[in-house]
Amino acid sequence: MKIQMKTPLVEMDGDEMTRILWSGIKEKLIKPFVDLKTEYYDLGLVERDKTEDEVTVKSAEAIKKYGVGVKCATITPNAQRMTEYNLKKMWKSPNGTIRAILDGTVFRAPVLVDGISALLPAWTKPIVIARHAYGDIYKDVEAYCEQGEKAELVVSGKNGERRITIFEYEKSGGVALGMHNTDKSISSFARSCFNYALAEKKDLWFSTKDTISKTYDHRFKDIFAEIYENEYKAQFEAAGIEYFYTLIDDAVARVVRSSGGMIWACKNYDGDVMSDMIATAFGSLAMMTSVLVSPDGCYEYEAAHGTVTRHYYKYLKGEQTSTNPVATIFAWTGALAKRGEMDNTPELVDFAKKLERATLDTIESGTMTKDLVGLFKKEGVVAKGVTSEEFLDAIASRLA
Ligand code: NAP
Ligand code: MG
Repeated sequence: MKIQMKTPLVEMDGDEMTRILWSGIKEKLIKPFVDLKTEYYDLGLVERDKTEDEVTVKSAEAIKKYGVGVKCATITPNAQRMTEYNLKKMWKSPNGTIRAILDGTVFRAPVLVDGISALLPAWTKPIVIARHAYGDIYKDVEAYCEQGEKAELVVSGKNGERRITIFEYEKSGGVALGMHNTDKSISSFARSCFNYALAEKKDLWFSTKDTISKTYDHRFKDIFAEIYENEYKAQFEAAGIEYFYTLIDDAVARVVRSSGGMIWACKNYDGDVMSDMIATAFGSLAMMTSVLVSPDGCYEYEAAHGTVTRHYYKYLKGEQTSTNPVATIFAWTGALAKRGEMDNTPELVDFAKKLERATLDTIESGTMTKDLVGLFKKEGVVAKGVTSEEFLDAIASRLA
């Protein structure tokens, strides 16, 4: 008998090569074992264009309603896509739209495989990056100032006006920028991180540069500290996990020396930089999972990579590709396990764990997509590069 589900998953289909992998994963790895219930939204670019992007908004609202979604990679249109798909408009990034509705934080974690070691040998446990996805330099305003000009920070409103000199460009022209963040967004970021740490039972580290940025970064530090003390301290102690704040440069040194296993919360720019560093150091972007967690406890799972366009164009020419489906499989298992946990259906959680194990066992016994072959080193096992289709079949037979 197939495993039953109580509540549907919000399924968000996507584009190009990952759309092909998506249906392969469902047909070969999930549907034979689970009586899969989903509420389906097609976020493929054709459908987004047809519905004037309404489908993206509806899918995000569905996640708010049901609590768990799983998303395929999607194209963010640019000028070239406008012509390729004959679009009515250059639709915004679906991830941006969904994030704005769910108001969340993005957590990225590498999938670890025996045989593919991190470039830092001490890293034996995954390091999760929690990236604040609002504000700072991503919403800044900038100016070039000529020699002889002066840049000022002006704050005006109900308390009158404050003018703070940024710099007087007496001897040379130069640059200036203004950026912002809000207490509301920082508080959501903090709660998402604390909730995720509790759900994963992992220590949470947070780092900024508050010794230099005594108002801006210090505000982040204070908000985290206050929310931790008032809302989470007792729960962290009960779960046997730790919240720890340190300066970003100290955090880098400690992370490099660590064996991993923590969640590292970073401001927007720091998270951008550190997540690529972590992904590369652990092996490959195709092995990086991503989950958006909202402050009210909704979860959206996806792979960290894009739609793998180059492989898709080969696929369209009738070639078999060797695109790595691991991060997309883990998006499904993450979502199924979370659904099972929320609905109290342990069989579903157990199935998700088995599918993850079967995927890792397949690689560890030497069958993998071509991107991993060069990275794989395990005594007594010869790495064999196979097509996506063959890889999914190998996992399926192991799972059965
Ligand atoms: P990408 O799809 O991540 O692919 C970049 C390159 O990385 C690929 O060409 C491939 O290298 C390698 N790669 C990535 N994932 C792989 C996998 N699963 N298996 C094997 N190799 C993999 O990034 P992109 O080419 O910059 O973007 C393509 C489209 O994806 C764009 O339209 C972009 O808007 C979209 N995108 C979506 C998301 C999202 O929905 N979350 C995120 C990023 C980008 P080789 O070609 O060398 O094999
Ligand atoms: Mg980046």
